[in-house]
Amino acid sequence: MMNVTLGRTGMVVNRNGFGALPIQRVSHEEAVKLLRKAYNNGINFFDTAKVYSDSEYKLGLALSDVRDEIFIATKTMGKNVEEFWSDLDNSLKMLKTDYIDIYQFHNPSFCPKPNDGTGLYEAMLEAKKQGKIRFIGITNHRLSVAIDAVESGLYDTLQFPLSYLADKKEEDLVNLCKEKNVGFICMKALAGGLITKSHAAYAYLAQFGNTLPIWGVQRESELDEFISYNENPPAMDEEIKEYIESERKEIKGEFCRGCGYCMPCPVDIEINNCARMSLLLRRSPTGGHLSETGQAKMRKIENCIECGKCKENCPYALDTPNLLKRNYEDYKTFLET
Ligand code: SF4
Ligand code: SF4
Repeated sequence: MMNVTLGRTGMVVNRNGFGALPIQRVSHEEAVKLLRKAYNNGINFFDTAKVYSDSEYKLGLALSDVRDEIFIATKTMGKNVEEFWSDLDNSLKMLKTDYIDIYQFHNPSFCPKPNDGTGLYEAMLEAKKQGKIRFIGITNHRLSVAIDAVESGLYDTLQFPLSYLADKKEEDLVNLCKEKNVGFICMKALAGGLITKSHAAYAYLAQFGNTLPIWGVQRESELDEFISYNENPPAMDEEIKEYIESERKEIKGEFCRGCGYCMPCPVDIEINNCARMSLLLRRSPTGGHLSETGQAKMRKIENCIECGKCKENCPYALDTPNLLKRNYEDYKTFLET
C-alpha cells in the first residue's frame, strides 16, 4: 500500500484519503457501507466538516469502534471564539470521539494568527492543550492566504485545491509545503468533476511525494476505483503525460472550479454549476444538464442583476457574471441541436 507522511504531524496515512462531503447525499446505511468498505481496504484518513450537514454523524456511526486506527480531519467556519468552541464540541459529539486529529479553519478569508484580535488561533492552541485536537490545519482556495499560512509556521497542514490543471504557482505551493514540512492535503483532485480519468489524477499527485488527495466518494464504484490503486498505484508515464498535456490545452485559463464560494446568489442562480456548463456538457453525460430542470436552472442567468457579489467572492478572481453569460449562450446552442 502506498502511504504519505503528512508533514510535521508525522502521520503516515494511506495515499487515498476519503473526502466525506458527498456522503451527505446518501442514506445512513449507504454511507456506513462506503465508509466501512474504505476502512476495510486500508483507507485510514477521513476528511469532513461541521458544515457538511450529517457527514460527521455518519462518520461517527460507521467508524467510532475503530477510532484509534483512523485519522479524522474536520473543520470550523467559526468567526469568533464562541463559534469555534461550539463547532468543536459539536464535531466531537457527532464523530463520537474525544479528539480530532487535524482541526482546520475552513476557508477563512485571512490567515488566523496569534494576537490578530479574533482569538481564533489562541482557541486552537487551547483546544490542543486540552487534548481535543492533535494538530492545527487550515483549508483555503486563495493562494495568498495559503502561502501566508505555510510561511507563518503556525500550521501543521494545508488543504488546498490541486489537480493536474494546476498552474506553476500552485505547484510551487506544494514544494513550499515540502520545504516547510507542512502536510499538503489536496481537495478537488478531480477539479470538481471536470477530470474524468482518476488514474491520471492519481499519478500526477503521486509525483510530488508529499500530497494527500481526499477523493470525494459517493458511489461504491468510485470507491472501488480508488481502492484498486492501493494494489496497483498508477505512476506517471509518457501516455499519462501526453493525456494531461491535451487536457491542459482543453481546460485552460479562466474556468470555474465549482467551489461555490460565490454563493448564494440573490436571484438563486446555481453559479457553481452554471458557470462551468460548457465544460460539463462536453465532459459528462448531458441528459441531466439538458433536462427541463437543467434548463430552468440555466434560464435563471437571464435574471442576473449584476450585483457583483459573486465576482467579489470568487477566490479565483473570475468575472463570474460574464462567465455565466458565455456559458448560457453556449448552452443554448446545445438545445438547438
Ligand atoms: S452578479 Fe448576478 S450571478 Fe452574480 S451574485 Fe449577482 S445576481 Fe447572482
Ligand atoms: S465562480 Fe468562482 S467562486 Fe463561484 S463556483 Fe466558480 S470558481 Fe467557485
